[in-house]
Amino acid sequence: MLMTDSIRQQFPILERMVKGKPLVYLDNAATSQKPQVVIDALTDYYSRYNANIHRGIHTLAEEATMAYEATRATVKDFIGAETTEEIIFTRGTTEGINLVAYTWGRKHINAGDEIIISGMEHHSNIVPWQILCQEKQALLKVIPVNDAGAFALEDFTALLSPRTKLVSIVQVSNALGTVNPVKEMIAAAHQAGALVLVDGAQSAVHLDINVQDLDCDFFAFSGHKVYGPTGIGVLYGKKDLLEEMPVFQGGGEMIKEVSFEQTTFNELPYKYEAGTPNIADTIALKAALDYISSIGKPAIRAHENELLEYATAQLENIPGLRIIGKAAHKVSLVSFVIDGVHPQDAAIILDNLGIAVRTGHHCTQPLMKRFGIPGTIRASFALYNTKAEVDALVTGILKTIKMLS
Ligand code: PMP
Repeated sequence: MLMTDSIRQQFPILERMVKGKPLVYLDNAATSQKPQVVIDALTDYYSRYNANIHRGIHTLAEEATMAYEATRATVKDFIGAETTEEIIFTRGTTEGINLVAYTWGRKHINAGDEIIISGMEHHSNIVPWQILCQEKQALLKVIPVNDAGAFALEDFTALLSPRTKLVSIVQVSNALGTVNPVKEMIAAAHQAGALVLVDGAQSAVHLDINVQDLDCDFFAFSGHKVYGPTGIGVLYGKKDLLEEMPVFQGGGEMIKEVSFEQTTFNELPYKYEAGTPNIADTIALKAALDYISSIGKPAIRAHENELLEYATAQLENIPGLRIIGKAAHKVSLVSFVIDGVHPQDAAIILDNLGIAVRTGHHCTQPLMKRFGIPGTIRASFALYNTKAEVDALVTGILKTIKMLS
């Protein structure tokens, strides 16, 4: 059991009033709120040891470098990587996926090759592959999503062929909450000779991640969805792959030696970290991951699942409300539509009650098309949410229906 009262006190924003009502923040899948330890890590860096990293010999530069690299070690443990060389700091999941598309993809994808994604991908795991496939005359294949918002493993394996070079798959759907069987998919893809990238944007905060156990080739996630800052994310890649891939951006830090005739590149992970990185947010990411680990993902997950079950049971009883995404294995969020209620109108009414939910297509337009809807109302839960907040949501929805019908 989580001590939600004391947890809530660690998130200063939760004391906020919105439109005269206490904030009920249920938009955690978009971004989570930040605990005081993360905010403190940011101000501590800027007020005590702000300096550029890696090149300086002075005390401040050394302290900043140590803190920056300490985050890399924490990330390595957080996702079960073998070495810190496999941890590349990015701006977020989107940049991590693009990095792979622009480097590994441009080197290895040729005309007639195939890349497999699923029908529930976020735009950031569709568009980079679409651009690559168009450029290389390769084929993008899509695993069909069933009415429950999931897919059977066989529907995936049926798409594998000797031409499949890459499978890029979301572990947890941001629009439906579906948990995909990525471990089994990775094993099947490897057997067919394909690599696998896992989009961990939604999973990293809820599920226990061990990239070695999964045996994925790449894993990307964002700091801002794991109680950390915006503008910092992680791309994990297997060392041998990262070593042979071409560089991403050119500039300072990623080089060993530069002359006008030729440049040699730095070792991992710096090869992929051109320019001055996002030092402050990287340092604060450690505070966020340590925070999660100090509470423990199993306890957090149990709490969030309880909220999910509680919310699902109540919402299901509302006439005219239809839950989109009823997979057997789900985490943390519930997406729904209501007869005669436009999601946008519902969001405005709920906001007036201090309730923050997300409405729209959730950057998954093909998935919305699959369900024949323009968008959904999505409530997503974090460790600080309570059953009282779920009650507030349900009351708010009932009020919305009354006002709009
Ligand atoms: N994939 C999924 C499943 C997501 O939910 C998100 C964020 N909504 C992204 C990718 C992109 O993450 P970011 O915007 O932090 O790069």
